[in-house]
Amino acid sequence: MDLLQLKDKNIVVMGVANERSIAWGVAKKLLEVGANVIFTYRKERSKGKIEKVLADYTEYNTDVVQCDVNSDESIANAFNEIGEKYGVIHGLVHSVAFANAEDLHNRFVETTRDGYAFAQDTSAYSLVAVAKAARPYMSEGASIVTMTYLGAERVLDGYNVMGVAKAALEASTRYLAYDLGAEGIRVNAISAGAIRTLAAKGVPSFNTILHQIEEKSPLKRNVTSDEVANMTMVMLSNLSSGVTGEIIYVDSGYNIMG
Ligand code: NAD
Repeated sequence: MDLLQLKDKNIVVMGVANERSIAWGVAKKLLEVGANVIFTYRKERSKGKIEKVLADYTEYNTDVVQCDVNSDESIANAFNEIGEKYGVIHGLVHSVAFANAEDLHNRFVETTRDGYAFAQDTSAYSLVAVAKAARPYMSEGASIVTMTYLGAERVLDGYNVMGVAKAALEASTRYLAYDLGAEGIRVNAISAGAIRTLAAKGVPSFNTILHQIEEKSPLKRNVTSDEVANMTMVMLSNLSSGVTGEIIYVDSGYNIMG
């Protein structure tokens, strides 16, 4: 029995930088169940990387569209292009975040106005902006899933301005869920455990965080991007039809520990 029922559904996946990206873990599973996956990328260089990871997926239904979440024009162009081509968007995976390196390395108190605003714009407001652009095409109801991290609610050394951006992202998830719920659009966030990706390289304390999870989490190990992708599939599918506005932890249970 096909419990997920994502076959032939049009799902936008934002944030594949390479084969280690959390978004790629999700995209692979979506392709395997027969969804049409529309990838978005920020720069030409990332487009090449997506095309490279898709080399083994020529038989599948994929598309690649440019979308820089710092630009309203780029977002509008991307979703108009997707909307005109596909008519309906059934799901959206927002797996995008960025902060200036110095704002992760310096003391938090040294965060600049520009650095703070840039992290918020890229990592939190972008969810609102893409929900707004995708909404006209979400006429059959839809599921939006974003990626967050425990640093939104706890202080994690070196996560700094990104923790503040994730707090805003989680609040935005709840407000969007409320605002869009009557239209049948669900909005949830997955709070993923630490996974070695390009973005994680920017967090100076990343190795320490990995060790702490191994030591202290109930499962005594780190999670894989496969496990995050599995939960994302559930959140995109009708299996989670009664769930919206939630932060779902896929972190070996680390968040419950004192
Ligand atoms: P990643 O570097 O593979 O993905 C981040 C993506 O954001 C990249 O594809 C990058 O191109 C994209 N991006 C950045 N600025 C953009 C912009 N202006 N426009 C469009 N795209 C832009 O790293 P990842 O770890 O897969 O990160 C994906 C998400 O998961 C992020 O939100 C991250 O904070 C979150 N997350 C990661 C971890 C972890 O340990 N890796 C844990 C919890 C949450």
